Amino acid sequence: MIRHKPKVVWIQAITCNGNTHSLLSSNYSRFELFLNSFDFFYHPSLTTQNSLEDVFSLKEIDFLLIEGAISSNKEFYSISNNDTLSLLEKLANKSKYIICVGSCASYGGVHAKFEENKQIKGVSDYLISWNLEKIKHPIINLTGCPVHPEWILQTLFSLKQRETIALDENKRPKEIYYGLAHHGCTRNEYFEWKVEAKSFGVKEGCLFYEQGCRAPMTHSNCNRILWNDVNSKTRAGMPCIGCTEFDFPRNNMLETKKNIGIPMDVPLGINKRAYLTLTGVAKTFKIDRLNKKLIE
Ligand code: SF4
Ligand code: SF4
Repeated sequence: MIRHKPKVVWIQAITCNGNTHSLLSSNYSRFELFLNSFDFFYHPSLTTQNSLEDVFSLKEIDFLLIEGAISSNKEFYSISNNDTLSLLEKLANKSKYIICVGSCASYGGVHAKFEENKQIKGVSDYLISWNLEKIKHPIINLTGCPVHPEWILQTLFSLKQRETIALDENKRPKEIYYGLAHHGCTRNEYFEWKVEAKSFGVKEGCLFYEQGCRAPMTHSNCNRILWNDVNSKTRAGMPCIGCTEFDFPRNNMLETKKNIGIPMDVPLGINKRAYLTLTGVAKTFKIDRLNKKLIE
Protein backbone atom coordinates (compact mmCIF):
# COMPACT_ATOMS: atom_id res chain seq x y z
CA MET A 1 0.00 0.00 0.00
CA ILE A 2 1.31 3.48 -0.86
CA ARG A 3 0.84 5.39 2.41
CA HIS A 4 1.75 8.91 1.33
CA LYS A 5 -0.36 11.01 -1.01
CA PRO A 6 1.06 9.89 -4.37
CA LYS A 7 2.03 12.59 -6.84
CA VAL A 8 0.00 12.48 -10.04
CA VAL A 9 1.22 14.26 -13.16
CA TRP A 10 -1.06 14.30 -16.23
CA ILE A 11 0.45 15.41 -19.51
CA GLN A 12 -1.29 15.94 -22.81
CA ALA A 13 0.39 14.92 -26.06
CA ILE A 14 -1.41 14.73 -29.44
CA THR A 15 -4.99 14.67 -28.25
CA CYS A 16 -8.48 16.10 -28.65
CA ASN A 17 -8.69 16.47 -24.81
CA GLY A 18 -11.55 13.95 -24.75
CA ASN A 19 -10.09 12.02 -21.82
CA THR A 20 -9.74 15.19 -19.78
CA HIS A 21 -13.39 15.96 -20.49
CA SER A 22 -14.24 12.43 -19.46
CA LEU A 23 -12.33 12.81 -16.17
CA LEU A 24 -14.45 15.88 -15.46
CA SER A 25 -17.56 13.70 -15.78
CA SER A 26 -16.44 11.48 -12.91
CA ASN A 27 -18.82 10.66 -10.15
CA TYR A 28 -18.55 13.68 -7.86
CA SER A 29 -17.79 11.85 -4.63
CA ARG A 30 -15.27 9.53 -6.33
CA PHE A 31 -13.47 12.55 -7.80
CA GLU A 32 -13.44 14.23 -4.40
CA LEU A 33 -11.98 11.06 -2.88
CA PHE A 34 -9.32 11.10 -5.60
CA LEU A 35 -8.39 14.71 -4.78
CA ASN A 36 -8.19 13.84 -1.08
CA SER A 37 -6.14 10.68 -1.62
CA PHE A 38 -3.66 11.85 -4.28
CA ASP A 39 -1.54 14.93 -4.84
CA PHE A 40 -2.84 16.05 -8.26
CA PHE A 41 0.37 17.95 -8.94
CA TYR A 42 -0.04 18.91 -12.58
CA HIS A 43 -2.56 18.89 -15.41
CA PRO A 44 -2.11 21.49 -18.19
CA SER A 45 -5.65 22.81 -17.88
CA LEU A 46 -7.06 21.62 -14.55
CA THR A 47 -4.39 22.54 -12.01
CA THR A 48 -2.96 25.99 -11.41
CA GLN A 49 -0.42 25.77 -8.59
CA ASN A 50 2.44 24.16 -10.58
CA SER A 51 3.94 24.77 -14.00
CA LEU A 52 5.52 22.32 -16.43
CA GLU A 53 8.92 23.65 -15.25
CA ASP A 54 7.97 22.54 -11.73
CA VAL A 55 7.23 19.09 -13.12
CA PHE A 56 10.64 18.98 -14.84
CA SER A 57 12.34 19.81 -11.54
CA LEU A 58 10.63 16.94 -9.64
CA LYS A 59 12.97 14.11 -8.67
CA GLU A 60 10.23 11.52 -8.70
CA ILE A 61 6.69 11.15 -10.02
CA ASP A 62 4.46 8.43 -8.58
CA PHE A 63 1.91 8.31 -11.38
CA LEU A 64 2.57 9.70 -14.83
CA LEU A 65 -0.66 9.80 -16.82
CA ILE A 66 -0.33 10.47 -20.53
CA GLU A 67 -3.25 11.54 -22.69
CA GLY A 68 -2.63 11.51 -26.45
CA ALA A 69 -0.29 9.98 -28.99
CA ILE A 70 3.46 10.58 -29.24
CA SER A 71 5.71 11.79 -32.06
CA SER A 72 9.19 13.26 -32.40
CA ASN A 73 7.85 15.57 -35.09
CA LYS A 74 7.34 19.07 -33.68
CA GLU A 75 5.10 19.94 -36.63
CA PHE A 76 2.43 17.67 -35.25
CA TYR A 77 2.53 19.16 -31.79
CA SER A 78 4.99 20.69 -29.34
CA ILE A 79 4.69 21.79 -25.73
CA SER A 80 6.98 24.51 -24.30
CA ASN A 81 9.27 23.87 -27.26
CA ASN A 82 9.41 20.11 -26.57
CA ASP A 83 8.11 17.67 -29.11
CA THR A 84 5.93 15.08 -27.41
CA LEU A 85 8.62 12.37 -27.52
CA SER A 86 11.17 14.64 -25.74
CA LEU A 87 8.54 15.48 -23.16
CA LEU A 88 7.93 11.78 -22.57
CA GLU A 89 11.70 11.17 -22.30
CA LYS A 90 12.05 13.83 -19.62
CA LEU A 91 9.25 12.46 -17.47
CA ALA A 92 9.14 8.69 -18.00
CA ASN A 93 12.56 8.17 -16.44
CA LYS A 94 11.48 9.57 -13.10
CA SER A 95 8.07 7.88 -12.96
CA LYS A 96 7.13 4.82 -10.92
CA TYR A 97 3.90 4.08 -12.77
CA ILE A 98 3.04 5.09 -16.34
CA ILE A 99 -0.61 5.03 -17.35
CA CYS A 100 -1.71 5.66 -20.93
CA VAL A 101 -5.08 7.35 -20.68
CA GLY A 102 -7.17 6.60 -23.77
CA SER A 103 -6.63 4.86 -27.08
CA CYS A 104 -4.31 7.49 -28.58
CA ALA A 105 -1.75 7.15 -25.77
CA SER A 106 -2.17 3.37 -25.79
CA TYR A 107 -1.52 2.71 -29.48
CA GLY A 108 -1.74 5.99 -31.46
CA GLY A 109 -5.52 5.84 -31.93
CA VAL A 110 -7.20 8.03 -34.51
CA HIS A 111 -4.05 10.15 -35.03
CA ALA A 112 -1.94 7.17 -36.09
CA LYS A 113 -4.55 5.78 -38.47
CA PHE A 114 -3.62 7.76 -41.55
CA GLU A 115 -0.69 6.96 -43.86
CA GLU A 116 0.88 10.43 -43.57
CA ASN A 117 1.04 10.11 -39.77
CA LYS A 118 3.35 7.10 -39.54
CA GLN A 119 5.57 8.84 -36.97
CA ILE A 120 2.66 9.05 -34.54
CA LYS A 121 2.57 6.13 -32.13
CA GLY A 122 1.47 4.99 -28.72
CA VAL A 123 3.56 5.48 -25.58
CA SER A 124 4.58 1.80 -25.34
CA ASP A 125 5.80 1.80 -28.95
CA TYR A 126 8.50 4.25 -27.87
CA LEU A 127 9.11 3.17 -24.28
CA ILE A 128 9.56 -0.52 -25.02
CA SER A 129 13.28 -0.12 -25.79
CA TRP A 130 14.06 2.36 -23.00
CA ASN A 131 15.67 1.43 -19.75
CA LEU A 132 13.45 3.22 -17.25
CA GLU A 133 15.23 3.65 -13.92
CA LYS A 134 12.37 4.11 -11.45
CA ILE A 135 9.56 2.18 -13.04
CA LYS A 136 7.89 -0.29 -10.62
CA HIS A 137 5.24 -1.78 -12.86
CA PRO A 138 4.69 -2.57 -16.56
CA ILE A 139 3.09 0.31 -18.49
CA ILE A 140 -0.70 0.29 -18.21
CA ASN A 141 -3.03 0.97 -21.15
CA LEU A 142 -6.50 2.34 -20.48
CA THR A 143 -7.99 2.11 -23.96
CA GLY A 144 -11.21 3.90 -24.85
CA CYS A 145 -12.14 6.88 -26.98
CA PRO A 146 -12.56 8.45 -24.54
CA VAL A 147 -11.70 6.33 -21.56
CA HIS A 148 -14.43 5.93 -18.92
CA PRO A 149 -13.59 8.24 -15.95
CA GLU A 150 -14.10 5.42 -13.45
CA TRP A 151 -11.44 3.31 -15.21
CA ILE A 152 -8.88 6.04 -14.47
CA LEU A 153 -9.90 6.34 -10.83
CA GLN A 154 -10.24 2.58 -10.26
CA THR A 155 -6.75 1.98 -11.68
CA LEU A 156 -5.22 4.69 -9.49
CA PHE A 157 -7.01 3.53 -6.34
CA SER A 158 -6.10 -0.13 -7.03
CA LEU A 159 -2.43 0.76 -7.50
CA LYS A 160 -2.38 2.95 -4.40
CA GLN A 161 -3.87 0.10 -2.38
CA ARG A 162 -2.09 -2.92 -3.87
CA GLU A 163 0.82 -1.39 -5.83
CA THR A 164 0.13 -3.80 -8.67
CA ILE A 165 -2.69 -4.60 -11.04
CA ALA A 166 -3.14 -7.67 -13.28
CA LEU A 167 -2.94 -6.84 -16.99
CA ASP A 168 -4.27 -8.59 -20.09
CA GLU A 169 -2.17 -9.24 -23.21
CA ASN A 170 -2.79 -5.63 -24.35
CA LYS A 171 -1.53 -4.26 -21.00
CA ARG A 172 -5.06 -3.30 -19.89
CA PRO A 173 -6.21 -3.93 -16.29
CA LYS A 174 -8.04 -7.27 -16.27
CA GLU A 175 -10.40 -6.09 -13.55
CA ILE A 176 -11.81 -3.50 -15.98
CA TYR A 177 -11.42 -5.14 -19.41
CA TYR A 178 -12.14 -8.82 -18.62
CA GLY A 179 -15.74 -8.69 -19.87
CA LEU A 180 -17.45 -7.36 -22.97
CA ALA A 181 -19.45 -4.16 -23.52
CA HIS A 182 -22.33 -6.50 -24.41
CA HIS A 183 -22.53 -7.75 -20.79
CA GLY A 184 -25.27 -5.86 -18.98
CA CYS A 185 -26.82 -4.28 -22.07
CA THR A 186 -30.56 -3.92 -21.59
CA ARG A 187 -31.05 -5.29 -25.13
CA ASN A 188 -29.59 -8.76 -24.44
CA GLU A 189 -32.96 -10.46 -24.79
CA TYR A 190 -33.40 -8.95 -28.26
CA PHE A 191 -29.89 -10.18 -29.13
CA GLU A 192 -30.74 -13.72 -28.04
CA TRP A 193 -33.93 -13.82 -30.12
CA LYS A 194 -32.43 -11.94 -33.08
CA VAL A 195 -34.81 -9.01 -32.98
CA GLU A 196 -33.18 -6.05 -34.70
CA ALA A 197 -33.62 -2.38 -33.72
CA LYS A 198 -35.60 -0.51 -36.36
CA SER A 199 -33.37 2.60 -36.07
CA PHE A 200 -30.96 4.40 -33.77
CA GLY A 201 -32.31 5.82 -30.53
CA VAL A 202 -35.31 3.51 -30.11
CA LYS A 203 -35.74 1.47 -26.91
CA GLU A 204 -36.51 -1.82 -28.65
CA GLY A 205 -34.25 -4.23 -30.53
CA CYS A 206 -30.58 -5.13 -30.75
CA LEU A 207 -28.11 -3.10 -32.80
CA PHE A 208 -25.85 -6.03 -33.77
CA TYR A 209 -27.38 -7.31 -36.99
CA GLU A 210 -27.67 -4.09 -39.01
CA GLN A 211 -26.26 -1.12 -37.10
CA GLY A 212 -22.71 -2.34 -36.47
CA CYS A 213 -22.78 -2.84 -32.69
CA ARG A 214 -19.32 -4.19 -31.71
CA ALA A 215 -20.10 -4.80 -28.04
CA PRO A 216 -19.99 -8.64 -28.34
CA MET A 217 -16.33 -8.31 -29.49
CA THR A 218 -15.27 -5.34 -27.34
CA HIS A 219 -13.62 -5.57 -23.94
CA SER A 220 -15.08 -2.96 -21.59
CA ASN A 221 -17.58 -2.68 -18.75
CA CYS A 222 -19.62 0.20 -20.23
CA ASN A 223 -22.91 -1.59 -19.54
CA ARG A 224 -22.00 -2.46 -15.94
CA ILE A 225 -20.24 0.73 -14.80
CA LEU A 226 -22.54 3.21 -16.47
CA TRP A 227 -21.44 6.53 -17.95
CA ASN A 228 -22.44 9.49 -15.80
CA ASP A 229 -23.84 6.79 -13.48
CA VAL A 230 -26.94 6.51 -15.67
CA ASN A 231 -26.44 5.25 -19.20
CA SER A 232 -24.37 3.64 -21.95
CA LYS A 233 -24.30 3.97 -25.72
CA THR A 234 -26.27 0.80 -26.39
CA ARG A 235 -28.84 1.52 -23.68
CA ALA A 236 -29.46 4.86 -25.39
CA GLY A 237 -29.83 3.18 -28.80
CA MET A 238 -26.39 3.91 -30.28
CA PRO A 239 -24.21 0.96 -31.32
CA CYS A 240 -20.94 0.33 -29.50
CA ILE A 241 -18.21 1.26 -31.99
CA GLY A 242 -15.55 -0.86 -30.28
CA CYS A 243 -13.45 2.04 -29.07
CA THR A 244 -11.42 0.03 -26.55
CA GLU A 245 -9.97 -2.36 -29.13
CA PHE A 246 -6.73 -1.79 -30.99
CA ASP A 247 -8.37 -1.83 -34.45
CA PHE A 248 -10.38 1.30 -33.59
CA PRO A 249 -11.26 3.42 -35.53
CA ARG A 250 -12.43 1.10 -38.29
CA ASN A 251 -14.12 2.14 -41.55
CA ASN A 252 -17.94 2.22 -41.82
CA MET A 253 -18.42 1.83 -38.10
CA LEU A 254 -22.20 2.10 -38.13
CA GLU A 255 -22.91 -0.89 -40.30
CA THR A 256 -22.57 -4.64 -39.78
CA LYS A 257 -20.24 -6.15 -42.34
CA LYS A 258 -21.83 -9.27 -43.82
CA ASN A 259 -21.12 -12.08 -46.20
CA ILE A 260 -24.23 -13.55 -47.91
CA GLY A 261 -26.35 -11.85 -45.26
CA ILE A 262 -24.36 -13.34 -42.35
CA PRO A 263 -22.35 -11.09 -39.97
CA MET A 264 -18.63 -11.52 -40.77
CA ASP A 265 -17.65 -11.14 -37.09
CA VAL A 266 -19.52 -13.18 -34.50
CA PRO A 267 -19.43 -12.73 -30.71
CA LEU A 268 -15.99 -13.41 -29.22
CA GLY A 269 -15.19 -17.00 -28.39
CA ILE A 270 -18.20 -18.45 -30.21
CA ASN A 271 -17.65 -20.88 -33.06
CA LYS A 272 -19.14 -19.36 -36.24
CA ARG A 273 -20.97 -22.49 -37.28
CA ALA A 274 -22.46 -22.94 -33.81
CA TYR A 275 -23.49 -19.29 -33.79
CA LEU A 276 -25.24 -19.62 -37.16
CA THR A 277 -27.10 -22.71 -35.98
CA LEU A 278 -28.27 -20.89 -32.85
CA THR A 279 -29.39 -17.81 -34.76
CA GLY A 280 -31.21 -19.99 -37.28
CA VAL A 281 -33.17 -21.65 -34.48
CA ALA A 282 -33.85 -18.36 -32.65
CA LYS A 283 -35.24 -16.76 -35.80
CA THR A 284 -37.89 -19.46 -36.16
CA PHE A 285 -39.56 -18.16 -32.98
CA LYS A 286 -41.75 -15.11 -33.23
CA ILE A 287 -42.15 -13.57 -29.80
CA ASP A 288 -44.86 -10.91 -29.98
CA ARG A 289 -43.71 -9.14 -26.82
CA LEU A 290 -40.28 -8.46 -28.38
CA ASN A 291 -41.77 -7.06 -31.56
CA LYS A 292 -43.96 -4.50 -29.80
CA LYS A 293 -43.05 -0.98 -28.69
CA LEU A 294 -42.16 -0.92 -24.99
CA ILE A 295 -44.07 2.34 -24.49
CA GLU A 296 -47.01 2.98 -26.81
S1 SF4 B 1 -27.20 -3.65 -28.77
FE1 SF4 B 1 -25.05 -4.36 -28.78
S2 SF4 B 1 -24.58 -4.60 -26.62
FE2 SF4 B 1 -26.78 -4.49 -26.72
S3 SF4 B 1 -27.45 -6.62 -26.87
FE3 SF4 B 1 -27.23 -5.89 -28.96
S4 SF4 B 1 -25.13 -6.47 -29.55
FE4 SF4 B 1 -25.25 -6.58 -27.31
S1 SF4 C 1 -19.87 1.24 -25.45
FE1 SF4 C 1 -18.26 0.61 -26.87
S2 SF4 C 1 -17.83 2.48 -28.08
FE2 SF4 C 1 -18.92 3.14 -26.23
S3 SF4 C 1 -17.32 3.65 -24.79
FE3 SF4 C 1 -17.89 1.51 -24.39
S4 SF4 C 1 -16.43 0.32 -25.63
FE4 SF4 C 1 -16.34 2.42 -26.39
